[in-house]
Amino acid sequence: MANQQPPIRLQFLGAAGVVTGSKSFLQVDDCKILIDCGLFQGSKSERKLNKVKQLPFSPADLNAVILTHGHLDHSGYLPVLVKKGFAGPVYATAPSRDITEIILKDSAHIQEEDAKEINERRARAGKKPVKPLYRQKHVSRTMALFEIFQDEEWISIDDVLRFRFHKSGHILGSATIELECLGQTIVFSGDIGQQAPLILDSPARPRAADYIVMESTYGDKLHDTSVSPYQALQEVVNETFEKGGSLIIPSFAVERAQEIIMLLNNLISEKSIPALPVYLDSPMGTDVTELFQKHKAWHNLSEAESNSLTENVHLVRSFEETLQVLDENGHRSKIIIAGSGMATGGRVLHYLKHLVGDEKNTVLLVGYQARGTRGSQLSKGEATIEIEGENYTVRAGVSQIGSLSAHADQEDLMWWLSSLRDAPKALFLNHGEEEPAETLKKKIEEKYNWPVTVAEMDKVYEL
Ligand SMILES: [Zn+2]
Repeated sequence: MANQQPPIRLQFLGAAGVVTGSKSFLQVDDCKILIDCGLFQGSKSERKLNKVKQLPFSPADLNAVILTHGHLDHSGYLPVLVKKGFAGPVYATAPSRDITEIILKDSAHIQEEDAKEINERRARAGKKPVKPLYRQKHVSRTMALFEIFQDEEWISIDDVLRFRFHKSGHILGSATIELECLGQTIVFSGDIGQQAPLILDSPARPRAADYIVMESTYGDKLHDTSVSPYQALQEVVNETFEKGGSLIIPSFAVERAQEIIMLLNNLISEKSIPALPVYLDSPMGTDVTELFQKHKAWHNLSEAESNSLTENVHLVRSFEETLQVLDENGHRSKIIIAGSGMATGGRVLHYLKHLVGDEKNTVLLVGYQARGTRGSQLSKGEATIEIEGENYTVRAGVSQIGSLSAHADQEDLMWWLSSLRDAPKALFLNHGEEEPAETLKKKIEEKYNWPVTVAEMDKVYEL
């Protein structure tokens, strides 16, 4: 006689219709888990959700959080969950734990600074102070809840549920989650990398699944692969050097900075570019770069390549050092990699102020540039950019490498699905805006005729 099985309920509390705030809530019987616990970023109305959106469970009742990777939009809400009573565990891979710690400390610092600024204004208006979303002490409490596992290793939660991590090729330590629950297999893709990432292994692909939750960030795009990043970088460095100028590369701290350093090191050792001094001016970028030495099983760099990430690069920590880089050797060509990736803030602004007005120099954009950011203005060829209230004329050259991305494009996503032997009972598309998710849905339906659902925020799906 078959037992009556309890339903498995799935609810998207973020990253549905948007690409941030990833939180997938799975409930079966008394067992409640979250896959990722990310912060909403992006527009003001999206960010507001971090404060006003209610959770459909009490954090103290949650059995566990499973983390696909350390990016803020997947981990950044954890301290709030802890503040509200969640006592763990948080399951993650070792690099994800370390990246999460770097990212959460930075996030708490930003929250505290923002609250301080708001409160100075409120005090002048005679209003009561507001509290930051979380503080450093909440981050410390969060980090104490982590439990680390290897990829491919089964981990049991409760007696109804077990899961394992598979490498997803997105950033160091990133994973897809294969979860077994009451005889059903549910795969959460997490963020998926390109088919052949530069410094990571290829994403592991699912062979069998009853249900799939897949990201769709670039469900309607194809990366520009006409020129290899290696070749593109070689050309830009050589052109800039011939003009006697310097190269400024605004870069994300996680993954992109390390990819660029690896490419530059290889180009220098092959003598394809001159051995210019390379500076990494991003405190977070430096911390993450050091993790590549600690977690060697999680990337595909050789021992020599991995060592040269920190050995052949000047790692700039303090702001005093930034000023030295700007002052010293002022007329000598150099390569500066600095945060932030879209030039919205960070140390790169100091370099832009000093160097963007000289036609000898080049600004090289190596990642996605969201609308309205300085990076986007530069990529459109705008004549001036504004930094801290002052206008700066752009005389430097601006170049772009379009093929570097930590995310799968449409072709990569279709490739990721193509190893499935049988049709899943349902395929949910999350982590994508409406247009990419709908485009990918059509593409999958046309090719496989599988039932595809574009995830709706807060709707309860019964599996
Ligand atoms: Zn990510």
